[in-house]
Amino acid sequence: MGASQPAPADTTTPAARVVTRFAPSPTGFLHIGGARTALFNLLFARHHGGEFRLRIEDTDRARSTDAAIAAILDGMTWLGLDWDGEVVYQFARAARHAEVAHQLLAAGHAYRCYATPAELEALREAQRAAKQPMRYDGRWRDRTDWPNDQPYVIRLKAPREGQVTIEDRVQGPVTVANAELDDMVLLRSDGTPTYMLAVVVDDHDMGVTHVIRGDDHLNNAFRQLALIRAMGWQEPVYAHIPLIHGSDGAKLSKRHGALGVDAYRDEMGLLPEAVENYLLRLGWGHGDDEIISRAQATEWFDLAGVGRGPARFDMKKLESVNGHYLRSSDDARLVTLIAPRLAAALGRALGAADQDILQRSMAELKKRASNLNDLASGALFYLRSRPIPMDDAAAKLLASAGPDLVLAARDALAAAGDWTAAALEAEARRLAEARQWKLGQVAQPLRAAVTGAAQSPGLFDVLATLGREESLGRIDDALGTMTREGATA
Ligand code: GLU
Repeated sequence: MGASQPAPADTTTPAARVVTRFAPSPTGFLHIGGARTALFNLLFARHHGGEFRLRIEDTDRARSTDAAIAAILDGMTWLGLDWDGEVVYQFARAARHAEVAHQLLAAGHAYRCYATPAELEALREAQRAAKQPMRYDGRWRDRTDWPNDQPYVIRLKAPREGQVTIEDRVQGPVTVANAELDDMVLLRSDGTPTYMLAVVVDDHDMGVTHVIRGDDHLNNAFRQLALIRAMGWQEPVYAHIPLIHGSDGAKLSKRHGALGVDAYRDEMGLLPEAVENYLLRLGWGHGDDEIISRAQATEWFDLAGVGRGPARFDMKKLESVNGHYLRSSDDARLVTLIAPRLAAALGRALGAADQDILQRSMAELKKRASNLNDLASGALFYLRSRPIPMDDAAAKLLASAGPDLVLAARDALAAAGDWTAAALEAEARRLAEARQWKLGQVAQPLRAAVTGAAQSPGLFDVLATLGREESLGRIDDALGTMTREGATA
């Protein structure tokens, strides 16, 4: 056994401590539904002072990739879904899985099946033709005339009579007749374990007490329970949570935002605590509370609060939750988070002066953004080199104001004794009153000249932050183009 393999737990006494797990198959990125499952498992374990484990289900060698494993670990780390202990890699435990299959065989709870693929295909074909459910018919269940040197699989000898009820903590009691479950394969003819066997053995060996996962696994639970009972192991509590649907009610797809969590971070510019808060509320509720911290969630989380209906993913809601966290976020942290975006847009690294400007303007900037992309694009004008680009709305504002007004406004600002927001505003007001203009008539073209846009944080704060030389320089640049254009017109 490798270091990542926990010792088998005592099979007779129920675990005193809650142990949950998140068990992703590394066949793609950590998607939003998986992240929510992980979060619920984490919160449930923490609420009960228990353990939250991570198991990478890489048994399917053809579909598992190292890149997917890295993406899962990275996404979990970003979201602060801190698991306890070592990551368990399922494939590394194949020998242990096989050992359990052989134990069941020896105890008479499993049997050798020599049915060939062609025979099974013929059986399926006949069932299809008769419109019967496709099930293995148990043809080797009671045979002992095993052929020599023929490959065989090991199948579970599952109960055929009666029924099984799972008291699911989200779905309620769910009953299935044993006749509907066939004898599943535990070990393939090449000696490799099936996924069903691996899950049950790993959950047992890791001491998992509560299996909280998507309701697409509910059917599996009945088969898994048959295996658990055959081994005489402690049964876990099951909680199958409804899958996430798109805002239109259809199954969640890429179009609805079913992307890897890295896309939420890198492409959408969301904060991890906002994604977490949103995922928590997606399928779980505590009264009307919307903004819920991790600490509060840990205190409140319970399976009773998990809804039975499918949750609907709503990107607008997620953005608005993100806006909330952005506004209450520490300014220095936001500067660090937008720095790479700004560096990419500017094509240069940020220096100390840039950081300083961002830090000073962040309180204003963050009021107007709901994600880091908006925040970065809103901040970009501060760091641009002269002459700064003008958008269409800004160019129009300047054109309709005309060079005389802009020049007068420039001179008024230049006359300010102190380059502070208050002093600059006083100068602009004085000019507006003297000429019987509205303050906006003076402020709007100035804003266009210094920010390159029609909207920005408060103009006088912007001027103060940019400083005298840079501000007047930008206004002169604008005047230069206006007079040039005027001359050629
Ligand atoms: N590996 C499975 C999946 O990614 C989860 C298995 C389980 O939670 O039991 O869907």
